[in-house]
Amino acid sequence: MQRTEIESLGEFGLIRRLTEQTVLRQPSSLLGIGDDAAVINPEGKRVVVSTDMLCEGVHFDLSYAPLKHLGYKAVAVNLSDICAMNALPTQVTVSIAVSSRFSVEALDELYAGVHKACAVYGVDLVGGDTSSSTSGLMITVTALGLVDGEQAVSRSGAKAGDLLVVTGELGGAYMGLQVLEREKVVFQSAPTAQPDLSGHEGILERQLKPEARTDVIRELADLELKPTSMIDISDGLASEVFHLCASSGLGVKLYEDKLPIDPHTYKTARDFNLDPTLCMLSGGEDYELLFTISQDDYEKARNHPKLSVIGHMLEDKDEKTLITKNGLETPLKAQGWDGIQQSNKAEES
Ligand code: ADP
Ligand code: MG
Repeated sequence: MQRTEIESLGEFGLIRRLTEQTVLRQPSSLLGIGDDAAVINPEGKRVVVSTDMLCEGVHFDLSYAPLKHLGYKAVAVNLSDICAMNALPTQVTVSIAVSSRFSVEALDELYAGVHKACAVYGVDLVGGDTSSSTSGLMITVTALGLVDGEQAVSRSGAKAGDLLVVTGELGGAYMGLQVLEREKVVFQSAPTAQPDLSGHEGILERQLKPEARTDVIRELADLELKPTSMIDISDGLASEVFHLCASSGLGVKLYEDKLPIDPHTYKTARDFNLDPTLCMLSGGEDYELLFTISQDDYEKARNHPKLSVIGHMLEDKDEKTLITKNGLETPLKAQGWDGIQQSNKAEES
């Protein structure tokens, strides 16, 4: 494959190449790339802004994350943060720091993912910055979104008795990562081995190419259902539940049998000797939305195919309980990915 050095284009040539296909779709985007700054017209709405940085070796591993997926994911996870405020995303800026290890063609791939995500979500790329890096790749995305008057939702508005709701299904992204890690180990010991990823496409997509739930934000608006508090699930359900509890000054009761998992994720967790519930609680990177609603809105959420009511908020901020499938009360724990592996080892021994 052809390899064009970044140097041969220079900074401005590179920016032009990566951004020349950019189109503006949003009426609020008055001026995009090419000037000193972009100009946005919120037309009386409120502007929501969020930034996330992704660093090679910390947030992604290029030995299994294709650059196109990485570009897509970098945008999608930022749009997810905008959704978590009950807003709809409208613009992004993308800043990159790259070392000479990367060719222009590699950056084309990265930006193919960025442009794809912008097209899928109807969001405009309106700026960014380009820098060299002495080691590795860094991508910073800033997302902007708009929300009507009083509709923005923070983490802190939940009330005792509010119902806790989660979108979609949980644990898939974590199990996708487990499959990728397994194949990476196999590959490192026998570089000619072909990775065995077949059948796992769904969970690999969940890990490599997560989606932001703009669809749910639109449907909540159609239902006239305004959450009382909301957060997106980047670290894992339990950890995000703890954030909502801390911000709202409340406790929580969760029901294990209400947690949504898709059958393939469940089976893969079992095959890996992992507890599917632990994968849902602590897996992370599902980018689903977690929110609370008033009990008066129960009927609106109850039969919605994308929503699961998984528990409720408690007055006592020190009580955070999981009711297991057997009806036992256990303290809810927020453990990271390492925690899953450790408790798995403890179960084995
Ligand atoms: P400045 O010197 O004012 O920072 P730049 O030369 O860095 O301007 O950028 C020129 C234009 O290209 C600006 O509109 C900027 O937002 C945009 N831009 C620069 N780098 C990127 C990038 N990696 N992705 C998207 N847009 C970019
Ligand atoms: Mg610049």
